[in-house]
Amino acid sequence: MRTKNRLVADEIKYFRPEFSNCPTCQSKLDYCHTVSKKTISTLNGVKTIVNMGYRCTNPECKNISTVFRSAQAEHLSVKHITYGIDVLAFVGELRFKEHKTRKEIMNVLNGLGVVVSERHVQKLYERYTVLLRASAEYNSKEILKETVETHGGIILSMDGVQPEKGNETLYVIREVLSGTILAAKNVKSSSTEELMEFIKPIIGYGFPILGFVSDGQKSIRLAFETLSPETPYQYCQFHYLKDISKPVVDKDRKLKTNIKKKLRGIREIEKKALKEDTLESETTLAYTAAIRSVLLEDGCPPLELPGIKVYEQTKLIQDSLEKCLDKKGAPCTRKAVQNSQ
Ligand SMILES: [Zn+2]
Repeated sequence: MRTKNRLVADEIKYFRPEFSNCPTCQSKLDYCHTVSKKTISTLNGVKTIVNMGYRCTNPECKNISTVFRSAQAEHLSVKHITYGIDVLAFVGELRFKEHKTRKEIMNVLNGLGVVVSERHVQKLYERYTVLLRASAEYNSKEILKETVETHGGIILSMDGVQPEKGNETLYVIREVLSGTILAAKNVKSSSTEELMEFIKPIIGYGFPILGFVSDGQKSIRLAFETLSPETPYQYCQFHYLKDISKPVVDKDRKLKTNIKKKLRGIREIEKKALKEDTLESETTLAYTAAIRSVLLEDGCPPLELPGIKVYEQTKLIQDSLEKCLDKKGAPCTRKAVQNSQ
């Protein structure tokens, strides 16, 4: 990622320090030179970020050699990476929330106009975990203190995500009540011993622990149990629900596939309708557009089943279509619709 920056910016943005007077003597600050000029690829296009340096104008001031710069500009990207921090955060979200693979992440980003290769995605992902680790250490004790004041203690959860088969697994420890990430670490073996070493410092903070939560992974459960046998332990409800609902989710997926198969013919209908310029063809295209949007329905299994959703919505479209044909009083077209079902 340190290769020559060949990005062509569609906008140049200039930043100056967030304050216009010297913080020590309050004299006016004056522009001295450009501190940095960097072109980065963001989710909103390619931007050149110019950070302008300012200096105190008072020759007596002890700050005279200090160059002030914009913190906001510095927040837009990290060193040695030509992607915006928004892209980094998005890679993390796609990876950990949506469990996408490197290739899928590459496709999503390229679709948004952010040019990346699989290798770039890997680098961005690595940077993301570094930032995650850094942010985990930042300020977390203060938040834990507040959580103890409100709830009488903290609840710890731990989960491991393997980015790609063969890679190290990223383990993340969260405090559940406040949603704070307390620690993140790449672990090679996932053994109980190694996980214990990872949890120990958090327990060492000394805050009262109300409980532990994790998925069914035995080494995690054992690590918690060994370190603090008295603390109640619970399976993560989401993982639990996901596991017991698996047969239903599998059937639901089949339902969705079957409905999709039946609707495969809409491309032909669209083609025909596009050739005409009548009220009927316009209505047809509105219906095919509705069907297409239904087919994109992903739902959120297991609580919201995509197959059932697609079924319900196609049923609504079908009802509407029939009503429409009734109004028009066209028995033969109506028959055609029924036959196609
Ligand atoms: Zn000054």
